[in-house]
Amino acid sequence: MKPNDLVVLRPQGLYCPQGDFYIDPWRPVGRALITHAHADHARTGHTHYLAAQPAAGVLKSRLGNISLETLRYGEKTRCGDVSVSFHPAGHVLGSAQVRIEHKGEVWVASGDYKLEADGTCDPFEPVRCDTFITESTFGLPIYQWRAQSVLFAEINAWWLRNRNEGRASVMYCYSFGKAQRILSGLSQDIAPIVVHSAVDALNQAYRDAGVVLPPACKVSDLETGTDVRGAFVIAPPAVQGSSFLKRFREHSDAFASGWMQLRGARRRRGVDQGFVLSDHADWPGLMQAIKATEAQRVIVTHGSVDVMVRHLCEQGLEAESFSTEYGVEEPA
Ligand SMILES: [Zn+2]
Ligand SMILES: [Zn+2]
Repeated sequence: MKPNDLVVLRPQGLYCPQGDFYIDPWRPVGRALITHAHADHARTGHTHYLAAQPAAGVLKSRLGNISLETLRYGEKTRCGDVSVSFHPAGHVLGSAQVRIEHKGEVWVASGDYKLEADGTCDPFEPVRCDTFITESTFGLPIYQWRAQSVLFAEINAWWLRNRNEGRASVMYCYSFGKAQRILSGLSQDIAPIVVHSAVDALNQAYRDAGVVLPPACKVSDLETGTDVRGAFVIAPPAVQGSSFLKRFREHSDAFASGWMQLRGARRRRGVDQGFVLSDHADWPGLMQAIKATEAQRVIVTHGSVDVMVRHLCEQGLEAESFSTEYGVEEPA
């Protein structure tokens, strides 16, 4: 840390001394700027919340009736001695990078981000800065994603095959972000799409925010006698092996996550199929994003911190790390 750093590490979280606020703090604070509504970044117990406007619905659906102010993407506001604005991170609905400016110096805290645009949230916007605080969830060169169009073609082909053999297709994924992204990529003419109630609540928040998603109904809303043999079912991983699946009798199951790229991950999950679909940047994406900021100094958080710091130093950048409490059970 240096004397005039715009973001420093405190026991409560990442803190901006000049603006007197925290970014995604992990302990209760007075003023919290929230990059996105995943549970490890948006926690309960803060007095005031500030987030990007499209995050309002999902934040309230997860945290209840919090004291929340929002800013449109790119809109500036004053916090203490700094100017603050939110810029799209392309991760989930309402996800934002926080830009902080003080006497001509600019810092950007990325939160979680992804470069490939997906239609369920505003696409990632590179923001020029002097210091960039980046996540590193998939910060190893082995992580390289294929285009999502290829993955969706595979997912729809898997579904069609199952349907033709009289089986339902059950996709386990996180209810917020991944579920809506998968839904948005599904073909609409194979068989009904059914979602778990946890997924349905988030779908509603997305639809309320103007995101167009294919029709999908809750299991409880299915009329008796509806043929669900070839249905596509989107459910959180917690329902694996539960009575929720009884309704679908014979089914094939799958898991969608960046971790599916790891050898053995599908087997450990105990599913028939693994689809490598992540809402985080892969290694080339992280490098591309860092380069686009033109930052000379990079601070790496949660993920493959050491590997990224070493690699960035070798590229001639000033790189260091913050030890955060993000990333525990993180949707990936
Ligand atoms: Zn996240
Ligand atoms: Zn994260």
